[in-house]
Amino acid sequence: ERTHKITLIPGDGIGPEVSAATVKILEVAGAATGVGFEWHRFAAGAEAFEQTREYIPKALYESIEQNRVALKGPVTTPIGGGFSSINVTLRKKFDLFANFRPVKNLPGLATKYPDIDLVIVRENTEDLYSGLEHEIVPGVVQSLKIITDKGSTRIAQFAFDYARKHGRKKIHAIHKANIMKLSDGLFLRCCRRVGEGFPEVEYQEHIVDNTCMQLVLNPYQYDILLTENLYGDILSDLCSAFVGGLGLVPGANLGHECSIFEAVHGSAPDIAGKDMANPTALVQSAVLMLHHINERATAELVQTAIEQVYREGKTLTRDVGGQSGTKEFADAVLEAMASPAAV
Ligand code: NAD
Ligand code: MN
Repeated sequence: ERTHKITLIPGDGIGPEVSAATVKILEVAGAATGVGFEWHRFAAGAEAFEQTREYIPKALYESIEQNRVALKGPVTTPIGGGFSSINVTLRKKFDLFANFRPVKNLPGLATKYPDIDLVIVRENTEDLYSGLEHEIVPGVVQSLKIITDKGSTRIAQFAFDYARKHGRKKIHAIHKANIMKLSDGLFLRCCRRVGEGFPEVEYQEHIVDNTCMQLVLNPYQYDILLTENLYGDILSDLCSAFVGGLGLVPGANLGHECSIFEAVHGSAPDIAGKDMANPTALVQSAVLMLHHINERATAELVQTAIEQVYREGKTLTRDVGGQSGTKEFADAVLEAMASPAAV
C-alpha cells in the first residue's frame, strides 16, 4: 500500500465540518484502492493565533514545504482590518500562481443551465491582492494593483497548456484594459503572445463587466476564462451559481513546488456548526488533489460516488434543495462507494 503525506488545514466556520466529511470519504476510498493517507493537521488564522501567537504557524509552512500537497478548508478573514488573508498569504508564499476552478454540472441536479462545463484560470499571486495599501493623507488611501509580464505570461501559459492537453477549444482573456490601460494592457499582451503558440485554440478578449452579462445570458459561449486575480475571484462565485452554487465548485492553487487544494467558497459563518454545509466542493477539490498525486482509481471512485448520490437525489444538502445534513450526505457517499449502482 502507498501512503501519501498530506498537510490538512481544516479551517474555521464550516471548514471543520466539510473537512471531516472529506477526510472520511478519502479514507474509505483509499482503503478500497490500496492508498493510505497520513494527515498532518494544522490550524490557521485566528484559531492558530490563539494557540501559537502566529496566524500561520511556522510548522504549517514547513509541513507544506515537505509534503508539497495540502488540502485546505476555508479560513475567515476579518473585514476592513485585522490580519491579512491567510489564503492570499499562503498563495504568495508558495508562489501558487495558478488558481484552477472547473465549473461543471453534476448529474441529476437540475439547474437553469444544464451541461455547463467551464474552466476558470485565475492568476493567483498579483493584482490588487498584493496587499500593498496605504493612507496617503487622512481620507485618501491607495491600493496598489501589481501586474507583471512574468505573472501574466505564466498564467496564460498554464491556460493554453491546459487547453491543448484537454482538447479545449476556446480561451477568453477577461480584462478591463479600456480603463486600466497599463496593467490590463500588459496582461492582454502576454496572453496574446502566449496564444500565438497555440493556433488550434481560439483566442478572444472580453471586458469583464460585459462578460458578467454575457455569462448570464449565454454561458455556453465560453470555455476557458483566463483572467487576473480579482476578476477571477468574482467570476468564480458568479459561475458557481450555474451549477448549483458555492457548495459544489472545487479549486486548486497550483505552483511549481507545491499545491493547495481548496473549494471556491469561504467559511460560511451563516451556516457554520449547524451540520448544514455541503461538503461536495471540498470533496471535489480532493478529487483534483488525487489526480494531482496520480491516484486516478481513488479519484474516480470518489467522483463516481458523488455523482451517484446526486443522480439518486435523495440525500442532498439544503443549498441544493435537499433536506440532509453534512454528515448524512457524507454517509450517502460512503454508501455509494460500497454499493455502486450500475450506470
Ligand atoms: P462564503 O463563500 O463563505 O458564503 C457565501 C454564501 O454561500 C453563504 O450564504 C454561505 O452559506 C453559502 N455557502 C458557502 N459555502 C457553502 C457550502 N459548502 N455549503 C452550503 N452553502 C455554502 O462567502 P462570505 O460569507 O462572503 O465569506 C465568509 C468568510 O470566508 C470571509 O471571512 C471570507 O474572507 C472568507 N473566505 C475564505 C476563503 C478561503 O478560505 N479560501 C474563500 C472565500 C471567502
Ligand atoms: Mn472568492
